[in-house]
This record gives sequence, C-alpha cells and structure tokens, in this order.
Amino acid sequence: QLAFPAHAEHRGAVAAARAPRTASDWRVLLSLCIGDWPLLLAALLALTLAATGDALIPQLQSEALNVLLYTEAVAMRPRLLVSLAKLASVGVLTALFTGVRGFLFWLSGARLVKRLRVALFASLLAKPQSFYDTRGTGELGSRLNADCIKLSDVLSLNVNIVLRQIMQSVVGITIVARLNRQLALIVLTGVSVRGALNYAYAAFNKRVAKAQQAALAESAAVADQSLSLVQVVRAHGTQEYEQERYESQLSRLLSLQTTQGALYGVSRVVNGALNTFLLCGVMAYGGALVVAGILPAKMMTSFVFYTEFIGSASFDVADQWRSIQEAMGAASEVFALLRAETTTSRPNATTAFAASTTPEQEVAKSSKRGQLEIDQVRFAYPSRSSEQVLDGLSVSIPAGSSVAVVGSSGGGKSTIFKLVLRFYEPTAGSIRLDGEELETIPETELRRLVAWVPQEPPLFGNVTIAENIAYGLNASMEQIVAAAREANCHKFISALPHGYQTRLGASGASLSGGQKQRVAIARALVRNPSLLLLDEATSALDTESAREIESALRRASIQRTVMFTTHKVDQARKADLILVIANGVVAEQGSHDELRARRGLYFDLLSRENAFEGVPSTQE
Ligand code: ADP
Repeated sequence: QLAFPAHAEHRGAVAAARAPRTASDWRVLLSLCIGDWPLLLAALLALTLAATGDALIPQLQSEALNVLLYTEAVAMRPRLLVSLAKLASVGVLTALFTGVRGFLFWLSGARLVKRLRVALFASLLAKPQSFYDTRGTGELGSRLNADCIKLSDVLSLNVNIVLRQIMQSVVGITIVARLNRQLALIVLTGVSVRGALNYAYAAFNKRVAKAQQAALAESAAVADQSLSLVQVVRAHGTQEYEQERYESQLSRLLSLQTTQGALYGVSRVVNGALNTFLLCGVMAYGGALVVAGILPAKMMTSFVFYTEFIGSASFDVADQWRSIQEAMGAASEVFALLRAETTTSRPNATTAFAASTTPEQEVAKSSKRGQLEIDQVRFAYPSRSSEQVLDGLSVSIPAGSSVAVVGSSGGGKSTIFKLVLRFYEPTAGSIRLDGEELETIPETELRRLVAWVPQEPPLFGNVTIAENIAYGLNASMEQIVAAAREANCHKFISALPHGYQTRLGASGASLSGGQKQRVAIARALVRNPSLLLLDEATSALDTESAREIESALRRASIQRTVMFTTHKVDQARKADLILVIANGVVAEQGSHDELRARRGLYFDLLSRENAFEGVPSTQE
C-alpha cells in the first residue's frame, strides 16, 4: 500500500496560523510562537539571568578598581581577592546563561521558520484558483524562502537582544538612580531623546525594507519565468533580453538598498554623537558635583561605567528595533498571505475548502452515477471580470454517457470543467451532480467523484510512477496496475527499467506526451470517479497515441460519465452527446448525425476544419 502520511504537527501549525483577517502582524507572529511557549519561557529565563549578570559586572568592576585606587596597601590584597572572586563568578555564570540563551533563541527561530513555512505553504495551497491567475509562483517561492528567514532572525536575534538590552538598561538606570538622582535623570533624558530619533528612523526603514522585499520577489519572479521557459528563451535567442530584464529588477533593488545603507550610516553618526554628548554631560555635571563636594569622586567611576553601559544597551535596542521593523515590513506580505481569504467567493465554499483534504482516501466504490446538470450558469474570471465567459449556460447530461464538448478556441469549454471541479465558482446559476448541488458536496467527496485530466497533464517528477498514479490515494499495487491497464499504459510502464518504481524527473520529462497523458488518465481512473473530465486529451498526440487513448476512454466510459473537449471530428462523432459551445451557451446539442443534418454551427465547425468530407455519418 502506498500511504501518504498526514502530519498532525503540520496541521497544528496550520491551524495556529489561520489568523483572522483583522489580526495585526504581531498577533499572527505571536500565534505562531505561542505553541513553543516552554522553549520560549526557558529562553526568557536564561535571558533574564544573563542580563542581570551583565548589569552587575560594571558595578563589580568599579568596586575592584576602587579597591585599587582608594584602599590602603595593607588591606588591599584580601579585599581585592574578594572583589575579583565576585567578579569572576558572576562573569562565568553570565557567560553560561548567555550561551544557553543564545542556543534557545536560535532554536526558537529555526522552529518558527518551519512552522511559518508550513503555515504559508498550506495557506497557499488553500487559495482559490483565481489567486494564481494574478500571482507568479516565483514570487511565492521568494516569500516562502527569503521572507520567512527574515522573521526567524527577528525571534532568534533581534527580540533576544532587545529584551536583553532593555533589561540591562533598566537594571543600569536603577543602579545609577540609587547613586544620584540628578545624574540618573540626565542619563534617562539622553537615552529617551536618542530612543525617539531611532524610533522614527526604524519606521522609515520599515517602509524601505518592504519595498525592497517586493523588488526581491519581483526579480525572483522574472528569473523563475525565464528559467522555466528556458527552451523558449533559447529558441528565440532572447538570453540577453531576459538578462537585461533581470538586471533592471536587481538595479531597482540595489537603489533601495543604497538608500537603506545611507540611512543606516547617518543613524550611526547621530547615535555615536549623542552617546558622546551624553557621556560628556554626565562627566561635566558629575564633575561639578564633585567640585562642590556633593558627590564623592570615587562614585564617578561607577557613573562613567554605567553611562557607557546604558548608552550602548539603548543603542542596541534602537538598532535591533530597526531590524525588527525591517523584518516585519519584509514579512508583511507573508502575514497578508496567511490572513487572506483561502477560498472562493461563496460562503458555503469556505468551509468545504478550508477543511483541507487529507490525502489518505480509500479507492471509492462509486455510488454516484455521474448525472450532471448545469443550470443557467454565468461566469467571468475574477481577474478579467469584464469578459462574460459563460452567459446562462444550461445542459443536462445523463449518467453514463460520453459527451464531446466542441466549439471555437477560447469559447469556454475548459471553463465549464473548471467550474464542475469548483476551481472557480459560478457568478450565477447552479451545477448539480446526481441531483446534489456541488457546493453541498464536501471537497473530499467531490475530488473522489470527479476526476480531471488536463491538457498536457503535469506529473510529479520527484515521486515514482506508481505514486503519481495513486497520488493522494491509499491505493494498492493491484488497483494501480488495474488503472494503468485500463488507461493503456501498463505495457510501457512495465518495460521501463524500474517499472512502476521509476521516478520521472522534472515534470515527467522522461515520458512522451502520449505516455504522460495515459499516466494521467490512469491517475484519474484509479479513483473510480463517477465523472471523468478530459481536456483536449489527444490534441497534441500522433494518431497511434491518440488511438491508444481513445480505446482507453471507450473502456473507461462504460462505468461512468465521460466529458471531453476536442477539436477532432473523428472523436466527437463517437460521443453519445455533442455540445457546441458558442457565446457562453450551449448553442447546439445532439448526436453527430443530428447536428450534421441541422447544418448549423457544428456543421460549420466541421467544414472549417476541412475534415467534414472525410467523416462518415455514424450510420455509415
Ligand atoms: P476553450 O477551452 O474553449 O478554449 P477556455 O475555457 O479556456 O476556452 O477560455 C474561455 C475564455 O476565458 C477565454 O477568453 C480565455 O482567454 C479566458 N480565460 C481562461 N482562463 C482564464 C483565467 N485563468 N483568467 C482569465 N481569463 C481566462
């Protein structure tokens, strides 16, 4: 048995990330982190301990220095020893907690990326088909890779440092305040001014980062397209053109990066200068206090240490906050994708599609018969809503019949299939399968009842032929072989060096068009569907391959309804029912002979193909 494992853990991540549409980015991030709370709690504990240790060290250092500077020679040695022992033990413990903290935050970040990617991937798979009409897979790949990594840095690095430095600053300022209030106030004011400036800078930087990530995604899309169509590029000799296109995208990215780099430089200058002013301010005011005899001179050592300490901690906070804002900006598209609708327009559809299919279905003992009724269906593609593709189309297809769908190219034949498959929802009208409205049939059930073989069917390259046939199904080897026999592909599969265990390479590149087509038909048949939809199944094939497929289809249509679109008269004429699609409706329907006798659209189509003369009536 070929089993497709459904990972409970993955489903957990997916559920966690299915955030409400109004949730802020931070809330979505939090909902993704919350599952890892024990780890995060341990990380926070290590962080608190390390930060406390870090904050104590300047105090201990200045204590040791004061022993050297202000203690009489006799008492110096034992007091220095005590001071150094304290400093050493706090230092070693701090180092230990720093290491533990680093590891735990790093791990949390890595785990977050995994959860985020799984969630994003699941959310992408759950998007309505119309979503993909406007988005390139290259761009989405960039979201899945580069943008998700940015977020892991937020947790493993930035948040870690910010929390640590905030803690250190708080402890530092408390210590300073206990020594002298006025001086503490000066430090606090200096730090606040710098904080405000940096906050504004971070907000601006976030915008630049978001634009940068978009540019990055666009360049990825350009590269993805050129590489996936590399044969076309080569055939047209447009390598240089493609290269220029990619380069111009990268130039846009570079100019944004330059802006960002310049801003960063300026911010470093401002921060450095403010830090120096702060230190000088403390020394000047503290010096005045010392001269006035209000402050003992030895306290100044602590002040200078802590001013430096708080200064650098608050600088780090600002710097990391900038990185956090930057990453959140970069990842905002990821959050938007996670939040966005995962389904089609009708509310009913939401529930059916959101309950994502667990690919563990058993092979069906089909109970339905495959009677299809399309009633006054109107439809326009969401990405091109001005063009009415179907305009009140109605037809009733008896169970067990074979139906040819013909009509001029672009007339909407494939669109009918896509609506029956519920890739899109009709804007009006209804479709019923064996009397049941499509939207009331659960997604998993529908996928079992209706099978589809698209034009140039894609196969998965990274799995075996057997797995390709049993895709998403818990089928036995016997069932797979039976389907392959029915689809006329058992013979050539058996002749391959590894038989059914052959891996196909990228998109099944190692098979011919006709072979791929037949494997795809086997993939459809193994589900034992009530309704089989074939889109131009034989259009690109030579006569021999086409004949193999036709005979497979004849066998397949004994037990179910088979609908196929075709341009070939020879195929259409054998169907029980021929539908001629024109102007978004079924313009004519009937058998070959009926339609031919009618001398209408079907007749025109045949004549236009110049094939009519050679095609005998079914009675001949
Ligand atoms: P046929 O199968 O009869 O050749 P289709 O059903 O593929 O025709 O297409 C019908 C019309 O819908 C065409 O004008 C086509 O350009 C348009 N169309 C098809 N797919 C999409 C899509 N994903 N987004 C927008 N328009 C589409």
